[in-house]
Amino acid sequence: MAETPLPQRALRVCALYPDVMNIYADRGNLLMLERRCAWRGIGFEVTAAGMGEGIDPAAHDLFYLGGGQDRDQRLCALDLVDTKRDALHAAADRGALVLGVCGGYQLLGHGYALADEVIPGLGLVDVETIRSDGPRLIGNVAIEVELGGGDDDAEPVRGVLAGFENHAGRTLLGADALALGRVLKGHGNTGRSGLEGVRRDGVIGTYLHGPLLPKNAWFADWLIRRALGVDELAPLDDGLEDAAHAEARRVAGV
Ligand code: GLN
Repeated sequence: MAETPLPQRALRVCALYPDVMNIYADRGNLLMLERRCAWRGIGFEVTAAGMGEGIDPAAHDLFYLGGGQDRDQRLCALDLVDTKRDALHAAADRGALVLGVCGGYQLLGHGYALADEVIPGLGLVDVETIRSDGPRLIGNVAIEVELGGGDDDAEPVRGVLAGFENHAGRTLLGADALALGRVLKGHGNTGRSGLEGVRRDGVIGTYLHGPLLPKNAWFADWLIRRALGVDELAPLDDGLEDAAHAEARRVAGV
C-alpha cells in the first residue's frame, strides 16, 4: 500500500497566554496536536505569546486561546486588543486557524458583558457574550458538526464532538455568524438556542473543554490537515482515543 506522503513542513502553533488561559487543562489540546504530529514524523513548533508580546501573523498556522476565569479573561482581553488584534485579523484573513475554547471563544467575538463593564473582544467573529446571573451552564456536552475537508474543497467531514462545558456567559450569534455545531446533549451557546460554538473559515470558537482534542482525535486531525493544507495524514492506531471518545459520548448520553 502506498505510504501517505509527509507534509513538507512543521505545524507551527502560537499559544496565546498559555499560563493564564488554561482552565481545565486546555494545554492538553496542544499536547494532543504535538503528539499526533510526532507519531507521524511531522514537525511541531509551539511559540508562547504572553502579555505585551506582539505576534507575527505569517509565522504560525494555528493560534490557540484556551479558557479562563472572568478576571483572567479581563487581563488578557485588554492585552489582546492592544497588542495582538491586528495580527490575529491578518492571520485569519490569510487562512490561518484561530481556535478559542470557552473563555477564549468569548474573546474571539465582540465582547463579554459583565454586570458593570464590557470586556472587549477581538471581533474575529460576529458573536457577543453576556454574563448571566442564572445558573452556570455546566456538564457533559456533545455536538454534531460538519466541517470542510483538509483544503475545504474536499468532502465534508461530519462527526460528533464530545466535551465538558462550564460557563456563565451566554453567547449570541450575529446575523451572519454560523454555529460550529448543533447541540445533541448539554447547553451550548445559550442553553436554549440548540447551537454551539461559531465558525468563520479558519476561526473556530467552542465551549467544549475536555480538553477538547484528546477527547476528539478526529477533530485534532482535521485541524492538522487544515493547518498544513494536506488532504491526508498517515493513519494512527487510535484504539485508546476512540475508547475515550466513546466514553465521552456515553457520559453525555448520545
Ligand atoms: N469566564 C467565562 C464564563 O464563566 C469562561 C469560563 C471558562 O473558560 N470555562 O463564562
